[in-house]
Amino acid sequence: MTPTTWRATILTLYPAMFPGHLGDSIAGRALAAGTWACDAINIRDFAADRHRTVDDTPAGGGPGMVLRADVVAASLDAVADGRPVLAMTPRGKPLSQARVRELAQGPGAIILCGRFEGFDERIFQRRAIEEVSIGDYILSGGEVAALVVMDACVRLLPGVMGAASSGDDESHEHGLIEHPHYTRPPEWEGLAIPEVLRSGDHARIADWRRARSIADTRLRRPDLWDHHGDDQVQSPSDVRQKKKEE
Ligand code: SAH
Repeated sequence: MTPTTWRATILTLYPAMFPGHLGDSIAGRALAAGTWACDAINIRDFAADRHRTVDDTPAGGGPGMVLRADVVAASLDAVADGRPVLAMTPRGKPLSQARVRELAQGPGAIILCGRFEGFDERIFQRRAIEEVSIGDYILSGGEVAALVVMDACVRLLPGVMGAASSGDDESHEHGLIEHPHYTRPPEWEGLAIPEVLRSGDHARIADWRRARSIADTRLRRPDLWDHHGDDQVQSPSDVRQKKKEE
């Protein structure tokens, strides 16, 4: 089977911001290889008036400008093809690794980037749009958030990370954060690499990593741990163990 291209279409007022940092490094190589594609489309091209107006003052008053639903809808309707439509907004559902994985397994995404005060709410009532937040802080626009979504998806596409890693062991893949890493030199500023990691005993190493992953999650991210549930503890080493047993 020929691999299909994962396609990101970004609706933005700043198309020159794409592919941005994703034009470099592993994502950039995958882009050049056609593993994924990136079309950035200017929402302004869909404005109906002579001045190419995309925004207007907020109904009810207040500062800033609001993106017009009619113009945003026209841009969206021009590219809609069944791919999931995401709008970047701090009011959206926080992005999760589980959602990233689903998106990466699909045909791609259409991503709407807000600016100013955001979108006229009616766009969400009239179009099937998933509102996505990348965290509880406010950016000046949705473009960086869109790049975050794309970065997280692209690295999971088949072949992008190569044989080095399948991404399976990373933080958040199993509801836990990852164990710490070490590399040469074996001693640095009086700190030695934990002995177990130099033992060559793969079972002990896997146990140590699993224990650290659990301990660090409990300590640093009690919120994740609370949702994790003791009965579902499945660390990367559990998964490897299960695979071995099968
Ligand atoms: N007035 C809005 C913020 C607008 S910020 C509010 O208080 O909710 C301008 C644009 O930046 C948004 O429309 C959105 O596209 C983007 N943005 C800002 N913060 C974001 C976040 N945490 N996640 C995703 N997109 C964000």
